[in-house]
Amino acid sequence: MKVLVVGGAGYIGSHVAKALMQSGHTVTVFDNLSSGQKINLFSQNVFVEGNILDYKALCQAMKGHDAVVHLAAKKAVGESMENPMLYSVNNISGSINILNAMVETGAKYLVFSSSAAVYGMPDKSLIDENTPLNPINYYGFTKLEIEKFMQWYDQLKNIKFVALRYFNAVGYDADGDIRGKEINSQNLLPIIMEVLSGKRSELKIFGNDYPTPDGTCIRDYIHVSDLASAHVLALEKLAQGMASQSLNLGTGKGTSVKEMVEAVEKVSGRKVPVVYAPRRAGDPAILIASADKARSLLGWKPAYTDICKIVQTVYSIN
Ligand code: UDP
Repeated sequence: MKVLVVGGAGYIGSHVAKALMQSGHTVTVFDNLSSGQKINLFSQNVFVEGNILDYKALCQAMKGHDAVVHLAAKKAVGESMENPMLYSVNNISGSINILNAMVETGAKYLVFSSSAAVYGMPDKSLIDENTPLNPINYYGFTKLEIEKFMQWYDQLKNIKFVALRYFNAVGYDADGDIRGKEINSQNLLPIIMEVLSGKRSELKIFGNDYPTPDGTCIRDYIHVSDLASAHVLALEKLAQGMASQSLNLGTGKGTSVKEMVEAVEKVSGRKVPVVYAPRRAGDPAILIASADKARSLLGWKPAYTDICKIVQTVYSIN
């Protein structure tokens, strides 16, 4: 297939572009380089520098493609609560432009980066796709609304989609082919790496009084290359006639903040200084994906299930 990867110079997008190429697809990357980086581009791919808010440029780049993978979005939860306008325009308007451009250019299949944030604070810890959708931040709200727009465009314009609801994306390409480190990440593992590199003096652990075995929050950390392989399978299944779907992507295994620190210490052989800080607003105690639906519908299986192996892929590029 000829696939336009929108946001393909970014952290997850560059891994998706690589996985698509490895499966024999032809990739064009469309990215405005606001958080994506040129160093993440592959010379085999056509690169178009452009903004999804520029509808003409988007249609121009999309012409002749069978499918679109859409990963271009703002994704900082805190920022989305302070500056919802940015998220309305970039995430919602940008996605509507992509859907309209697909109708205009005849691209049929769409794989969309959604998020576990669509579930909010579920009252169970193992989350399947039937869990009520109840985002508690504006970022999660935009992802859910876009899923609803896609359902309508499927019904009205026959655009077939898969929304992939990522749990906690971590890691880097183990072959070292993707060299751009994520910039300004506010997530746990990149912050621990900044502590190791001396950029921060310590890790603040947000809460150690949660109802979990060690008191710290538990998350489902999924390796970015496993996320990437799911995008390829989703596109291929759509082309084979699979109906539109929303699918969780996670390992089904939880790791606490303390366990993550221990994994980094084991891999690096160094001590990570930590301090305990109050709970961060909006953090559920435990979030683990049931990804059985992705496994059965896509035949997808994460290759990385061991947290130390995941950490190794991060440590080796730092
Ligand atoms: N966390 C932490 N200290 C930090 C950053 C994150 O204790 O400096 C915790 C956070 O409270 C959560 C987990 O690490 O329980 C994962 O947070 P992250 O922001 O990476 O992802 P989220 O689960 O919020 O999407």
